[in-house]
Amino acid sequence: MQGKKVVILGSTGSIGTQTLDVIRKNQDIDVLGLTAHSNIDLLESQIKEFFPEIVCVVEEDKAIELNNRLRGIGSRTQVVSGEKGLEIVASLDQAELVVTAVVGMIGLLPTLAALRKGKHIALANKETLVTAGTIVMDLAKTNNLSIIPVDSEHSAIFQCLQGNNHDDVSKLILTASGGPFREYSKEQLKHVTLEQALKHPNWVMGHKITIDSATLMNKGLEVIEARHLFDIEHRQIEVIVHKESIIHSMVEYVDGSTIAQLGCPDMRHPIAYALYYPDRKESSYIKKLDLTHIRTLSFEAPRKDLFPCLQLAYDALIAGGTMPAVLNAANEVVVEGFLKKQVSFIEIPKIIHKVMNDHICINRPTLSDILECDRWAREYSRKKVLKC
Ligand code: NDP
Ligand code: MG
Repeated sequence: MQGKKVVILGSTGSIGTQTLDVIRKNQDIDVLGLTAHSNIDLLESQIKEFFPEIVCVVEEDKAIELNNRLRGIGSRTQVVSGEKGLEIVASLDQAELVVTAVVGMIGLLPTLAALRKGKHIALANKETLVTAGTIVMDLAKTNNLSIIPVDSEHSAIFQCLQGNNHDDVSKLILTASGGPFREYSKEQLKHVTLEQALKHPNWVMGHKITIDSATLMNKGLEVIEARHLFDIEHRQIEVIVHKESIIHSMVEYVDGSTIAQLGCPDMRHPIAYALYYPDRKESSYIKKLDLTHIRTLSFEAPRKDLFPCLQLAYDALIAGGTMPAVLNAANEVVVEGFLKKQVSFIEIPKIIHKVMNDHICINRPTLSDILECDRWAREYSRKKVLKC
């Protein structure tokens, strides 16, 4: 029996490797394409295990090096490079489903390329929808394609929506772990270190999303992602802090019923759901929930005063047009600055706020408007980072 034919953009990252683990466990999916930015050692071992037809390494030098290695061992896997290479892999003829697990808005153009070529998307790369949600969702709708969420909160909501009417939804409730600084005071936040920020209490993830989780920007980006995925107004999206990360999100209906999706925090669950949707796959390798062991689930309101990134994301969503793309671009640059120890933790929202304030928002933007504003925001944010 031939399996579903899948391409994974960002196969060497946290989501990418966990996607390959699900595929490894089940042995019924064909991997046709993989991509990395520069980690060719890991990509090479993935090629030896999954035999893709084509891979992309964005960094040209690394692509050449990998190509030489593959020719040396008689591999038939083709190697392409650069950002265009991502689009080539994303639009591969036989692929049915593209898992978008690259980090950052670099995922946008390959996702659009995949949709134009009729591929369904398993979407982890939330920055794509934050930046150009309307364009991406419209294209999927026009081409009758599914965008199946991989982000755990959105997978939870997607599951809670099954079998119900969209018009009966009154509210989406996104849960947030609150990150490592959930209980910190304003004074303590001034002194947090990169090392502390990189220690997420419940999830092991890539560096960028880990920092976004600590600032609550991740939840803000998820609010925007939810607005587009589920075609719902911002005022119908609520965030609550649930430090145990057991309830992955909830949907409240007009009759007062709230449906939640629960599970142990393991990204392989929403990944498998997206890979096999609409079926559910038996997964003995994922720990099952034991509520008698967990005993207590707690909930509290997010501290928006101490973590302004969440409100900034709501502000960007309400402003609409190019503002979410600018919020995202500024955040990517400032987080990179924080990872390089160029800016402090509390400067992150300040710079993003300044960049948003100085942006002249374009309503109903085209793709080129969005790309241009993204470029402007990156350049402007870099200058702000360098002044710190
Ligand atoms: P990682 O940093 O672990 O992995 C990123 C992947 O993208 C790697 O394959 C990396 O290649 C590649 N990459 C990095 N920069 C570029 C670039 N400029 N061009 C092309 N490829 C690039 O990220 P995560 O797996 O944590 O996150 C991926 C996406 O999924 C993000 O959008 C994140 O928000 C989302 N997500 C992640 C979750 C998680 O649990 N990790 C949960 C929910 C959503 P290389 O290894 O060569 O650097
Ligand atoms: Mg999430």
